[in-house]
Amino acid sequence: MRKPYRKRRIEEPPSFQHFKPCGIPRRQLKTISMSIDEYEALRLADYQGLNHAQAAEKMAISRPTFTRLIEKTRHKIATAIIDGMELTIGGGNIEFANTFHRCRDCGNERLGPAHRKKPDCPACGSTHFEDTAEDFMKNEE
Ligand SMILES: [Zn+2]
Repeated sequence: MRKPYRKRRIEEPPSFQHFKPCGIPRRQLKTISMSIDEYEALRLADYQGLNHAQAAEKMAISRPTFTRLIEKTRHKIATAIIDGMELTIGGGNIEFANTFHRCRDCGNERLGPAHRKKPDCPACGSTHFEDTAEDFMKNEE
């Protein structure tokens, strides 16, 4: 049996999932989707300025894999900007190291380790403390 692909490690869920050009109705736009591992590659290399070896280590993938990933990601972003497409972020064979918990009642937001039992809101005690990582996992095809 073939070994399943190892999950790519993601530091924390993206804060935004949709981008689109101004002034064009969504139904007229083509969509390009970026997976969360592509998003993470962009964040580590082009936002934080890590080199490919450092970024690959953070994501638990090989350096050549990272290089292919970041090249594909940059091409997607260029395509979205040049062709004026809607860009969505979601999915991928990933696991989050951390997640944001957001209270639906008082808006309190807190970063904490993922894969832990969902806590109650420390600010107001509400049990409606959402895990933002779950939004992304639901999108998975
Ligand atoms: Zn609260």
